[in-house]
Amino acid sequence: MPSTSHLRASGLRKSYGSAEVVAGIDLELRPGECFGLLGPNGAGKTTTLRLCLGLIEPDAGSIELFSLPVPARAREARQRIGVVPQHDNIDPDFTVEENLLVYGRYFDLKRSEIRARIPSLLEFAGLNGRAHSRIHTLSGGMKRRLTLARALVNDPDLIFLDEPTTGLDPQARHLIWERLGGLLHQGKTIFLTTHFMDEAERLCRRLAIMDRGRIIAQGAPRELIRAHIEPQVVEVYGDGAERWATEFGRARSERCERTGETVFCYTHDAGLLVQNLENREDLRYLHRHANLEDVFLKLTGRELRD
Ligand code: ADP
Repeated sequence: MPSTSHLRASGLRKSYGSAEVVAGIDLELRPGECFGLLGPNGAGKTTTLRLCLGLIEPDAGSIELFSLPVPARAREARQRIGVVPQHDNIDPDFTVEENLLVYGRYFDLKRSEIRARIPSLLEFAGLNGRAHSRIHTLSGGMKRRLTLARALVNDPDLIFLDEPTTGLDPQARHLIWERLGGLLHQGKTIFLTTHFMDEAERLCRRLAIMDRGRIIAQGAPRELIRAHIEPQVVEVYGDGAERWATEFGRARSERCERTGETVFCYTHDAGLLVQNLENREDLRYLHRHANLEDVFLKLTGRELRD
């Protein structure tokens, strides 16, 4: 029976030396969905992506892309795939248009066929009128959008994006999100890695949180929030925040955690906390709904990862 998944991976493992970077993971991507792989630095996200694309070989496990075994038939499968790598690798010696032409040749597309697609790719990238621009004249956001447009040159069904908005300013990020939303609207399937929770929450129908080579939670963003975290959060800032937590906050919430100068209290009912804080001139606070970042920090910890 033909597979209804665009990607199916099971029992994936990959070690470098004595370090097991991918430690037995299963993944499935359904047509038309945006699936996000989240995790702190070094969790193994890029390695997982590269395994799925057949760019590196797993030590164990199996991968199917469009029902083709990977890496054995990865080249064939990649004909239906677009890739946006973490770092833009556009050729600086070529113009915008030349970059698209050269990239299209990897897919054995005819020059005339690629030329015919270029106007709509430039339109998509917001680079109308820039066909003959040199790469060094483009802003960071423009380069990212060109890399995204380049990944669409073969009209792929599935697009892999590795941290698509890292290093971009908020305006440029919003523009990329809008373009990715447009691709989903067209029925494309997206597999993205990110460590931006707002990006994941905004775009992804399903997410997997990865840490130390393993998937530690999986589901829709709202499901993950419901399953792993108390629904309300009170953030308290200022010199006296820790003392306030010890004297008042901890006893009236399910859990309090500190990061730097901020105390986070997680609770089902923030009524007493907020009432108390309203009378504290010396402390600032924010009462909000729990979000994906809270889940991520609870599951992966608050210590820095390099
Ligand atoms: P992430 O994308 O989640 O930040 P990566 O998959 O890039 O994580 O890397 C996971 C770990 O594997 C890191 O500790 C990284 O240094 C290591 N690693 C990745 N690629 C290689 C490689 N080719 N050789 C040795 N170690 C590697």
